[in-house]
Amino acid sequence: MKPLALFGGTFDPVHLGHLSVAWEASELLDADVRLMPAHVPPHRNAPTASPAQRVAMLKAALQGQDRLTLDTRELRREGPSYTIDTLRELRDELGERPLVLLLGADAFAGLPSWQSWRDLFDYAHIGVLNRPGIDAKWSVDLAVEILPRRTTDTRELHELPAGKVIELAVTPLEISATRIRELLAEGRDPRYLLPCGLFEDASVLAPYRAKPTQ
Ligand code: ATP
Repeated sequence: MKPLALFGGTFDPVHLGHLSVAWEASELLDADVRLMPAHVPPHRNAPTASPAQRVAMLKAALQGQDRLTLDTRELRREGPSYTIDTLRELRDELGERPLVLLLGADAFAGLPSWQSWRDLFDYAHIGVLNRPGIDAKWSVDLAVEILPRRTTDTRELHELPAGKVIELAVTPLEISATRIRELLAEGRDPRYLLPCGLFEDASVLAPYRAKPTQ
């Protein structure tokens, strides 16, 4: 059965790194991919843009294709966005359809700090997306947990609903939202790191621009 893949993040702002790796993961896995903005990320500082602003940017970014869609369920839920709660909710909706959680290599290395992280494998597979320019060493706990779960065969992710880990060799793009926020705060214009839809209305990127001094 065609898997449903989830790509969560703060998307503050969504950039071409996110979109390109999500697109390639969808091709490699033959899966539908939903981009899922997080409300209050448990491991992170609060985003610069509001939830509504981040959704507006994602909508603008996703125009003109239907392989990648938007799922705003975590923004509608009160409190922090724990992935385990989202996966439980989706599993109730989807029955046996395979679910794949897509994580950049940096996010995957941090998995052992997530709420009930070992239980995630009861609900979903994990697809690890390579990401250049980051230090993504696996802890012993993580390495031991994934050893029996690793596969290179995407068919297993179509046959089983959950429990496997696959590394997806996507085109490496060294783009981060942190860098984009820095450039915008300096008054620069990271035009070709962001989807062009974000430049159509100047107010979209305004939250990241330095406020004029009085
Ligand atoms: P920030 O710089 O604010 O930490 P980010 O660019 O890492 O942001 P997030 O929204 O935090 O973006 O990331 C969401 C998911 O996308 C994470 O799993 C992250 O690893 C992955 N990701 C982001 N950028 C890339 C990239 N260039 N290549 C591969 N994965 C990426």
